[in-house]
Amino acid sequence: MSDARRLLTLPALVAALAMASALLAAPASAGTTSAGTTSAGTTGTDEAGARGTVATSSSASALDGPGKADDCEPHAARLTAAAPAGIARPDGPSEATVRAYERDLRARLARLGGPTSARGLIAGDVQPRTRKVKVFVHVLKPTQKAKRVSGRRIRKQIRVLNRAYAGRQWRRAENARFRFELRDVDVTTNKSWYRAELGSRASKRMRRQLHRGGTRALNLYIGKPEAGGGMIVLGYASFPQKAAKRPRLDGVVIHRGSMRGGGIRGYNRGDTTVHEVGHWLGLYHTFHGGCSKRNDRVADTPAEAVPSFRCPTNRDSCAAEGDDPVRNFMDYSFDSCMHHFTAGQIARMHDSWRAYRR
Ligand SMILES: [Zn+2]
Repeated sequence: MSDARRLLTLPALVAALAMASALLAAPASAGTTSAGTTSAGTTGTDEAGARGTVATSSSASALDGPGKADDCEPHAARLTAAAPAGIARPDGPSEATVRAYERDLRARLARLGGPTSARGLIAGDVQPRTRKVKVFVHVLKPTQKAKRVSGRRIRKQIRVLNRAYAGRQWRRAENARFRFELRDVDVTTNKSWYRAELGSRASKRMRRQLHRGGTRALNLYIGKPEAGGGMIVLGYASFPQKAAKRPRLDGVVIHRGSMRGGGIRGYNRGDTTVHEVGHWLGLYHTFHGGCSKRNDRVADTPAEAVPSFRCPTNRDSCAAEGDDPVRNFMDYSFDSCMHHFTAGQIARMHDSWRAYRR
């Protein structure tokens, strides 16, 4: 299956469809079963996954598990699972969940008063101060002997995060005014937590036990999450609305191979963390809601029918004005492609912070 990555680099959606078919037609890999202590029952794979293969089995139902509505959907698994149905229905939170989230956000902001961007308006004249975010990193290892992600790589990842949020990945990018400060790193050996997938019991148990700090603290879990059938999950995150109700489940989980210099080609410059933290700060995918009028609830991100893969610049999938925002951190493009948040997204992140995390 080492061709999966190469196929992923083909530009057209047609190619993506072809790839998904190829993956679906592939025989199930002889993956090793993880000997987790919980009932998560994740089927592990060999190291092929960490080298950047998108999927190693024929499962197409990886994203149908419980809990997905509250977590960010993975990039790669998204493609393979959505494509057979036509790639037109990206997952992520359901529209009903989003509506409830929006009502809650508006109500909280109304109580707080002051200018907001809650209806997707760009609060262009609002210049909130830089928010400092404490970061607690939780490194997961599958076995005692396994090599942990080094402190150097973690510090590099925090630098990537800070550069991105300071608008330094692109000369025209705006400063999002969030500053991330590494507070502590702990290391835990637990095979099922290491591979804990989206919405799994293992993932919840892990977060409940390891979470540190209050709602203002970013808890970053570094493991090797997998969806069913051995598909790689680049990362997932909880939304701020969720933090209010379940503070200990709040946080971001990333695949170690997505860190700078990691093994997942195309997605190894550290921008998965930037993307997931965007969700953690209240942003939806740029393709959320497709071509609908409200789509991602941000006015200055043009509507987009489907996620982008690789870097299809000049793509325009909706009749509404503007090319698809494929260079936005909240799309699914390669790390080398994505490089900014818009002013509307930045205003929304600060609104979310005010409502849920201050
Ligand atoms: Zn996402």
